[in-house]
Amino acid sequence: MQCCVEEKIYDFLIIGAGPIGIEAATIASQNGLDTLLLEQGSSIGFYAKKFAHLGMFSPWYYNYSPNGVKTLQDAGLFIHPKALYDTTESYLNNYLIPLAKTAKLVISYNTKVLKIGKSALAKTNLAGENRKKHPFRILCQRDGKKEFIYAYSVIDASGVYDTPLALGVGRVQAIGEEHNQSSILYQAIDKENAQHFEAKTTLILGQICCTAKSLNELQKYLTCNPKTKLIYVDETGLKPYISQLKNDIFTRRVESIRLANELLDSSSPQVRVIKKSGVFKIEKKEQGFEVHLISQKDHTIESLFVDTIVSNCGFRPDNSLYSELQVHECYASASPMNLASAMLEDTLDYRLTPSALGYETLTNPEPNFYILGSKSYGRNQGFSLHIGIGQTIELFSHILNKEKQEFLRSPLAEHQEVPFVVNKEEKLSTSSPLAPAKIQADQEQMYKTITENLQELIFQTDLKQKITYLSPSWTTLTGFSTQEFIGLDWQSLLHKDSQAQGLCQCNAFMSNQLETYREEFKILCKDGSVKWVEVNASILVDSNNVAYGTIGSMLDITQRVAVLKELQEKNKQLDRLSITDDLTGLYNRRHFNEVFEHEYERALRGGNDFALIMCDIDFFKPYNDTYGHQKGDDALRAVASVLQKSFTRRIDIVARYGGEEFVIILPATSQENAQKLVEDARKKIQALHIKHSNSDVSPYVTMSFGMICGRAIPSKNPDQLLTLADKALYESKKMGRNRLSVYYLE
Ligand code: GH3
Ligand code: MG
Ligand code: MG
Repeated sequence: MQCCVEEKIYDFLIIGAGPIGIEAATIASQNGLDTLLLEQGSSIGFYAKKFAHLGMFSPWYYNYSPNGVKTLQDAGLFIHPKALYDTTESYLNNYLIPLAKTAKLVISYNTKVLKIGKSALAKTNLAGENRKKHPFRILCQRDGKKEFIYAYSVIDASGVYDTPLALGVGRVQAIGEEHNQSSILYQAIDKENAQHFEAKTTLILGQICCTAKSLNELQKYLTCNPKTKLIYVDETGLKPYISQLKNDIFTRRVESIRLANELLDSSSPQVRVIKKSGVFKIEKKEQGFEVHLISQKDHTIESLFVDTIVSNCGFRPDNSLYSELQVHECYASASPMNLASAMLEDTLDYRLTPSALGYETLTNPEPNFYILGSKSYGRNQGFSLHIGIGQTIELFSHILNKEKQEFLRSPLAEHQEVPFVVNKEEKLSTSSPLAPAKIQADQEQMYKTITENLQELIFQTDLKQKITYLSPSWTTLTGFSTQEFIGLDWQSLLHKDSQAQGLCQCNAFMSNQLETYREEFKILCKDGSVKWVEVNASILVDSNNVAYGTIGSMLDITQRVAVLKELQEKNKQLDRLSITDDLTGLYNRRHFNEVFEHEYERALRGGNDFALIMCDIDFFKPYNDTYGHQKGDDALRAVASVLQKSFTRRIDIVARYGGEEFVIILPATSQENAQKLVEDARKKIQALHIKHSNSDVSPYVTMSFGMICGRAIPSKNPDQLLTLADKALYESKKMGRNRLSVYYLE
């Protein structure tokens, strides 16, 4: 039996109801194109929702498209954001969801695209324009049922958040990773998930800004609960752990990465960084996971127990959707080739890239197939929403043969002028001396509006560093009026403690010794309180490229500084506690083990003589039995103090090994000297005259010593040396106690 199916053919099929898919679908349907939007999840911005509580890196006006704002305003539904930075949640609720509703988009939810092909053409048939007349044939799965949808043009705006990279070494799945996927967090830590992190041990992997966000969030738990622990595994061993994006314009992101690196570099006992290692295997345990790490140095395996695993190793575009189309992608970034090549020209101003790269960069060998949004950037970092919005504007102005200005017109143009620049030439021409005075006046008004509404403070100086402008947030920040500072030296904004540093840095900056200027300073407020600010500045040049002053911003970082100080203080305290023995104040055994290995390696490299001494109080059990534990403790402290004072060089290590046993390392010490020092110590202990009526060797407390000394030899490892020293100590005990026995290394 034959059956004929009459198929509808859409003008546009758009995959993904995220910010870029919605932007594209809005423009397409407003321009009379028959458009269907497919969404794999059950709602608009399904993947963005996973980051709901996180503040966005970019100010709101980078994420609201001019066309979107206009659409909402025309419907009387536009809500002006209250803060400069939206959370993802407020962005979705106040902008994206109302926009999709207002534009009456046709959205099919729970619809997963499995494969895109062409009706009547295989990947290898025909090329270029000749393929155009055959519509796309898209295999979907809607609510579990498979079906085909047809369209003349397809935009893949499905993003990358559905396909995180694996956490195993080299981004290849670790053994057990797939099995445990649902218990691993492949997104940034969100404050809603506190129960997974507070007072828990969290393993974090990754080197991207998402990793930085997670570390920033975790830092809060580390600060407020000393039981919270972080283990960071770094495969590369390169510093910084998380690199800044080149020419990043988003200060929030720069700051987030800086703080994350600072945390990883802190010497907090709550933070452990394992370098040059990667995850090899993951096993789920009753509580948390056992993670096996493989060292890149010697391929040894280390096992760890952690409660939570956070993998922020990045995302990859799922290119299986279009594997049967003619799409040529860059093997490294997985971006479509035209865009990937254009991005190599990295001299472009980052702000201009979205549209300045041009329509051509959005095309593929497959005509009418476009990849927009984060998927187009593939594995490249640095995608942000305004780039995707710029791409969409670029694409539709070409398709609809309209001026880009049409999509840029909105009553909020003063903001949007900044991110959605039409193209490089046009942007430059508006600031050229030939630009009409009206445009210049408008621009001035626009910048004024921006600076006066920013939370950050903006200041300007002339070339003599005299203040020519100070934005109103100065009053909010300090309580002083702005007027009283105009005409004063720039340094007068700073607390007197910071003025010298400010002057010195500013001079270096003005004389071109410093390219950018970024410093933290103290400032004094009217009520006498002190605040911390971060200052960023750049040189102002006129249209002939001649410098005429500086412009800078000041950000209040008082709270950040306070939190950091508290954390550092706590860390220092914990650091001290974790290496010392409570009773005697000497180093503890753990610390000894750590440094001993290190010292021995150093001795091996340097070929120096060194000595290792084990010593033990004689008949200490009878001492305790006779005089009581309290007195026993006193005696231990007294003996420890003599040992401490007997080996006084900074490189000597005296530690309590356990009970009434101590251990001493004397690096770079000859046999003779070591022997003399130990003999002196032994005599001094006896000379303390701590009464010991139950000792067989002396009326006073005494100590026996075993020492090995000589040149470090590679055939012996630290454990073997300790065993030898212990043997020498046993020798002393056997020979009658209160003496020193020596083994020589050769
Ligand atoms: P020897 O001369 O062979 O070393 O005999 P000993 O009695 O010193 O050795 P033994 O190992 O039998 O006993 C060690 C004792 O040290 C046992 C314990 O009561 C005492 N001791 C260990 N740690 C402490 C401590 O922190 N405080 C006190 N007061 N006593 C301790
Ligand atoms: Mg003992
Ligand atoms: Mg003893």
